[in-house]
Amino acid sequence: MPRIIIVGAGISGLCTAHYLVRNLSAAGREAEILIFEAEEVPGGKMRTIREDGFNMEWGPNGFLTNKPYSLELVKDIGIEDRLARSSDLARKRFIRSGGRLHRLPETPQAFFSSNLLSLRGRLRIMWEPFAAGPPAGVDESLGDFARRRLGSEALEKLLDPMVTGIYAGDPDRMSLRSCFPVIHDLERKYGGLVKGMLSLRRERKRQGIKREMSAGPGGVLMSFDSGAQALVDVLAERLSEGLHTGVSVEEVRERDGKLLLSITEKGLRGEIDTDVLVLAVPAFAAASVLAPLDPRLTEALSSIPYSPISVVALGYDKATLGNPLDGFGFLIPRGEKRKILGALWDSSVFPNRAPEGKALIRAMVGGVRNPALAALPTDEIVGLTRSELAVTMGITAEPVLSRAFFHEKGIPQYLVGHGKLLDRIDARLAAHPGIHLNSNAYRGIALNDCVLQSRLTAERIARGL
Ligand SMILES: Cc1cc2nc3c(=O)[nH]c(=O)nc-3n(C[C@H](O)[C@H](O)[C@H](O)COP(=O)(O)OP(=O)(O)OC[C@H]3O[C@@H](n4cnc5c(N)ncnc54)[C@H](O)[C@@H]3O)c2cc1C
Repeated sequence: MPRIIIVGAGISGLCTAHYLVRNLSAAGREAEILIFEAEEVPGGKMRTIREDGFNMEWGPNGFLTNKPYSLELVKDIGIEDRLARSSDLARKRFIRSGGRLHRLPETPQAFFSSNLLSLRGRLRIMWEPFAAGPPAGVDESLGDFARRRLGSEALEKLLDPMVTGIYAGDPDRMSLRSCFPVIHDLERKYGGLVKGMLSLRRERKRQGIKREMSAGPGGVLMSFDSGAQALVDVLAERLSEGLHTGVSVEEVRERDGKLLLSITEKGLRGEIDTDVLVLAVPAFAAASVLAPLDPRLTEALSSIPYSPISVVALGYDKATLGNPLDGFGFLIPRGEKRKILGALWDSSVFPNRAPEGKALIRAMVGGVRNPALAALPTDEIVGLTRSELAVTMGITAEPVLSRAFFHEKGIPQYLVGHGKLLDRIDARLAAHPGIHLNSNAYRGIALNDCVLQSRLTAERIARGL
């Protein structure tokens, strides 16, 4: 029976294993599937910290329904009844501008009357259908794209905070095509964003598809009754027979047509061979595992940078807060020169995030904008966050709980040239047919993307066995 080893039990590793089991059993085939996870608990970035009745996400707070993949997975594993739909307040998103919070307009009418952008900035956006087309043969940065189509003010006040909210990255270094392929394709197919959106709306109408509205990204934000970790917990439980936590994979070599892995478990080194290896780990970890086998692949993988980010969770007594937390939260453009990137008002969006009478806010600190701040000791980062919430939201109350979760290499950055880098990686991988790379470092960082890429990886492996 062939052996398949998956390294990493984040959503990408667990999901690859889930779809492998499904594909192989549908084809009446058998394989031994083992998952090795370096940490003592599975889940990777998807973890919910439960303390004093608060459910605090240390990474993602949910997934969007604008793509179907996560929802299909949820149905597939039978936990639809545990889904928590975000409240309608999730549509009220704010951007800080000129020192105060402005609601992100949801409709064209609200956009015209909003003073988030100056009149000149709004008129420039309205001019979008006449903007210059994309430069040929160039992997354009998000910054250049936004300046070209929407103007500098839209970049500063709309796109920069959006890129911060998703990647904690720098729009002038990130690739439009790799970060937002839908927008890239929309422009190329329809000749502009407004033209593209109108055409899509007409197509949907013709097909009788109704789309739910939401400010910012499309779709509805979903999570689970007791936090996002529910999804990885159920997957880990179903895969428990082959899941080994506390096992770190150090290196891989080739021997006698097989892949030989060096592993460490509780300080002891061992070896195990496998027919198929899936590295469902960050790119820098895959680089290190592959170093003895393929230095050029290692070099390509090492060149994918990561932004550091800290999530600072603050719990409050609602009675002392002096702010209704009436919305999803806010993001701060870099021009405002503040020390946090933004904050999410989690207890307003999902049930069970805070006990009765309490509220939970999670602020994001660091990113490529302020990398050193993400690494501050807990008391300093909590102090800094409290001062920033006082300045932006007027909150001076004493929190009843404060925690900080530091992700040193938090979010992969798809820089200009990312697509070419992936081509180089794929060309090297062609020389190692048993090895597959699957994590958020390559073709999408959202949970939906991780689920889709895992499904595709599992299909490729099942076909090749
Ligand atoms: C703060 C934050 C907020 C986010 N918010 C959202 C959100 O709201 N919505 C959304 O869709 N996405 C969000 N994301 C992105 C999303 O969480 C990630 O893209 C996704 O969880 C990544 O999953 P993964 O399995 O690819 O990687 P990881 O979760 O990083 O899993 C990799 C696993 O591999 C293990 N590992 C590494 N090296 C080895 C080794 N040598 N041997 C064994 N095991 C190893 C690690 O311990 C880890 O468990 C957020 C990310 C962050 C950091």
